[in-house]
Amino acid sequence: MSLPFLPFTRPSIDEETIAEVAAVLRSGWITSGPKVQAFEAALSAYCGGRPVRAFNSGTATLEVALRLAGVGAGDTVITTPLTWVATANVILEVGATPLFVDVDPVSRNIDLERLEAAITPQTRAVIPVDLAGLPVDRQRLHAIAGKHNLRVIEDAAQSFGASWQGQPIGASFGNGSDFVSFSFHANKNLTTSEGGALVLPADIDPGLCERLRLQGVRRFPDGGMDVDVLGGKFNLTDIAATIGLGQMKHLAAFTARRRELARRYFERLDPALGLQLPPADFGNCNWHMFQPLLPAAVARGQFIARMKERGIGVGVHYPALHLFSLYRKLGCKDGDFPHAEDIGRRTVTLPLFPAMTDADMDRVCAAIENCLPQCH
Ligand SMILES: *Cc1c(COP(=O)(O)O)cnc(C)c1O
Repeated sequence: MSLPFLPFTRPSIDEETIAEVAAVLRSGWITSGPKVQAFEAALSAYCGGRPVRAFNSGTATLEVALRLAGVGAGDTVITTPLTWVATANVILEVGATPLFVDVDPVSRNIDLERLEAAITPQTRAVIPVDLAGLPVDRQRLHAIAGKHNLRVIEDAAQSFGASWQGQPIGASFGNGSDFVSFSFHANKNLTTSEGGALVLPADIDPGLCERLRLQGVRRFPDGGMDVDVLGGKFNLTDIAATIGLGQMKHLAAFTARRRELARRYFERLDPALGLQLPPADFGNCNWHMFQPLLPAAVARGQFIARMKERGIGVGVHYPALHLFSLYRKLGCKDGDFPHAEDIGRRTVTLPLFPAMTDADMDRVCAAIENCLPQCH
């Protein structure tokens, strides 16, 4: 008898949440409404009382953050080439130019040693990414950004539930001047199926954020309306917000279980396999993903295929994005960011999600020990 397929991730939705979603579906109000407001209030409480607005994706949040920061044509925005392509696409979307800075080979996040040298007079903002939920050093980041008057837009799509020096990611590490963007895509640590949220700086009008979220519409008490800015169509539904509210109750337990599983990987994976493991951070990181780097001689495609034959899903997050055709057309080339390229070629995402059992993990480790030596 073969075991059921073990995906690299799977959301945990409880029956109470499913019942509450059904109640919303029966209520007659299924788009943005009271559930979105309740979800925003819960997120704001989590983020130390900062203003938070919900969106239909973590891409929309980044795009709106750039617009609110006044970033547009002629500006450059610094980010990492080792992230989901959304992080860079939004920079192009608002008419600005992405400027990549290579990653630190250990943390795999943007190398803050190199950040300052990349800043030019055209640089308006920096989008750091907490890859796999490992936070970028907030003190150093904000010190550099403050010195050069750059707006920080934290892409915390993967670090919801993580913390930095005892404060949750989402709290302000930049004296209230920073945006924080979350994604609640199905694979993220907290999901609304699709969705996102934007934590706003103290100097940004939440009303303008709401207008950029929905067609620029401003409504008046007498029933009239006006449109004075170009907004998008980025509102979250009450159906999705209800899933998010149900997930919030489990956030601490989800993160705790992810940490436990990550610890177990460190204990179980045989060093003789030659895997290069991520930093063993059990205080800040939320273990959104567990990503060893394969030895350079291992054929990754073969490894993924052999693991799949054994019923185990292995992902790739991500190839260095500056080598995608679109970014090559914009002038990027092989060798531009050697650390990101090396990690992007060797990284694999092993199964890790709150409902994963210890037995599942033992199965993954046994399969790796079996498959890896055959993949040369
Ligand atoms: C998921 C993700 C996004 C985009 O989120 P969506 O909700 O899918 O639009 C952006 N950046 C990073 C790093 C992500 O992992």
